[in-house]
Amino acid sequence: MTDFPAAASETVFLTRQGDVAVITIDNPPVNAGSRSVRAGVLSAVQAIGRDKDVRAAVLAAAGRTFVAGSDLKEFGRPLEDPQWPVVLTAIESCPVPVVAAIHGAALGGGYELALACDWRVADRAAVVGLPEIGLGMIPGAGGTQRLPRLAGIASAIEVITSGRRVPAVEALEAGMIDATAEGDLLEFAIAFARSKTGSKRLASRQPLPPEPEDAIEKAIVKAEKGGRARPNVRSAIETVLLARTVPIETALERERETFQTLRQSEEAAALRYNFFAERKAAKVDEIGGSPAKIGRLAVIGAGTMGAGIASVFAAAGHAVTVVDTNSDALARAGGQIESALAELERFGKLKIPLASAQASLSFMNDLAAAANADLIIEAVFEDMAIKMDVMQALGGIARADAIIATNTSYLDVEQLADASGRPERFFGLHFFAPVPRMRLVEVVRCRRTSPDTLCTGIALSKEIGKLPILSGPCEGFIGNRIYAKYRAQCEYMLEEGGLPETIDAAMQALGFAMGPFAVSDLSGLDIAWRNRRRKATDRDPRERYVVIPDKICEMGRLGRKTGAGWYLYPEGAKAGVPDPIVAEMVRAESQRRGIVTPPSEKDMQHRVLGAIVNEAALILEEGIARSAAEIDLVLVNGYGFSKYRGGPIYLAARMPRQDVWQMVEKAEAATGFGFRRGDVDALLDSLR
Ligand code: NAD
Repeated sequence: MTDFPAAASETVFLTRQGDVAVITIDNPPVNAGSRSVRAGVLSAVQAIGRDKDVRAAVLAAAGRTFVAGSDLKEFGRPLEDPQWPVVLTAIESCPVPVVAAIHGAALGGGYELALACDWRVADRAAVVGLPEIGLGMIPGAGGTQRLPRLAGIASAIEVITSGRRVPAVEALEAGMIDATAEGDLLEFAIAFARSKTGSKRLASRQPLPPEPEDAIEKAIVKAEKGGRARPNVRSAIETVLLARTVPIETALERERETFQTLRQSEEAAALRYNFFAERKAAKVDEIGGSPAKIGRLAVIGAGTMGAGIASVFAAAGHAVTVVDTNSDALARAGGQIESALAELERFGKLKIPLASAQASLSFMNDLAAAANADLIIEAVFEDMAIKMDVMQALGGIARADAIIATNTSYLDVEQLADASGRPERFFGLHFFAPVPRMRLVEVVRCRRTSPDTLCTGIALSKEIGKLPILSGPCEGFIGNRIYAKYRAQCEYMLEEGGLPETIDAAMQALGFAMGPFAVSDLSGLDIAWRNRRRKATDRDPRERYVVIPDKICEMGRLGRKTGAGWYLYPEGAKAGVPDPIVAEMVRAESQRRGIVTPPSEKDMQHRVLGAIVNEAALILEEGIARSAAEIDLVLVNGYGFSKYRGGPIYLAARMPRQDVWQMVEKAEAATGFGFRRGDVDALLDSLR
């Protein structure tokens, strides 16, 4: 057998099959390229180099995948030696051919490891890719130089700047791998390696394949557009292009320098924070219980949300019955679902063929059609009396073991749970518009929701590609509750002479993709208006109340759909245009209150951040959210806060604490009566 040390490190093992050495990486769960893996591969390759009886080598991994990335925890501190470039150079210098045997996923450092081998063979179900771009970096171990030499510059730019996972069959065509395995991968790889005895084929020594100049230009334009000119996308393109202009040794050094700089950037740290927050959010073991099997679904209400919800479930292969009492709404929903499914197909998000997804949908105008559904999702008008009627009716129609969920935004879920007659099999499933595009879904645990029901909601949300975040029951749940406080601050600023466009710009500079006034124009001002009128009688007169939004609505300006709201939307305008009428209204209100100087941009941002952080602290204290990081995930994935800044709580946690206290004080002073303080220190400390 072998005179090698069987273990090259705690995670890497070396064995031999005749004259072929086999290096096996075994670092569960995903064989991340930790220090121990890097050291093990290095020592194994050196041992192979010393052994005259070895004629070829295979580099494989145990468990469910090849090396599916690096150990991201290491990325927040100085990287420990040996680092990948040293290990990869050792593989290239190994006197015998080295063949990577890829199953599962070879991603990031894992695919760069494979690229440093002489050949790559893969299981037909494997994927390869360089996802560093999504973490604010570029590949740092030769990916930007070896890949273009195998697949061409255009293809390398596309793969690196999209960060996408390339399926084996496509990778083979592109030259990213050299063969797909027939039968057992390891046996195939060993035979392949043996057939290459006596030869080496380093990617780094290959000339660039010929390709048309305009293909490269097109790839650059597409990458810049898709990457919204993020600094790392620009760096990735420039670094790949070095393959044409400088010797590979120089290019590799520059790639490493860029990688190291980006790795330590604020953006990359924020993106890692989001990455870990999502991983943690996916863990819901403490709930106990197990998900029920859901096949048939009924969606009640064929409006904006109902149509969106039906689309994403049909796309995932569920049979969906859409029920609405209004036949016109059903017909409209049919059209909306059709275009949503077509879009999901374009983005590769259909789990079944388009025709099957379309065929799995039916449209009915009688609630009785929900009788055989395993899960019923209610998305009718946001009106308690209507929802209560629907719930009571469903209680009688639905199978006794069926689960009922509501998509309500603000209404009392406990009352709805009672009305459904099955509070243990009832929960809130709060989607965001447009449903096919928004990742977030708040899974609302009511007082009596059973663990099995909750697990069903979470499992289903994951199955349809959403990011489920657990929320307790309260008005607005996590997201809308915080958003309401944020919006209120922005409305106070109007009253103090801030113009909608100035406030929107300040909020964009803080990290929101759009300002609150542009957002309300987009979604329509009428829903909030109705909500305000509903609550008018209960409102404490001591509460600060800004009348400008009501005045705007009374003028028939309900947003984009009416051609005017906070902004004007002349024919063909892509974005809203500031309107002197609104400016005059703002000026008149601020004068009435005797305010001459509107708040500065900084002041606006401070007050908003103070309000958000304070409400988040209350939400955490009350057990509505499980963690501060999950609150950030809600704001990033449902409300357009930039993931490149981590989230508002992350942002505040990195500021001097004194400054945050002052921000909360400013928010409190602006709000006046009714402001309740949360334990902001506890919230921010929890992120340390
Ligand atoms: P919508 O007005 O677009 O649609 C509601 C639909 O319900 C209409 O087609 C109506 O005909 C139907 N309907 C009314 N009563 C019915 C009944 N008794 N039986 C069957 N159908 C009935 O509303 P929407 O924007 O889709 O909102 C639906 C729900 O989703 C609301 O609770 C809302 O708060 C919530 N929600 C909305 C958004 C959003 O951005 N629009 C986001 C999250 C949650």
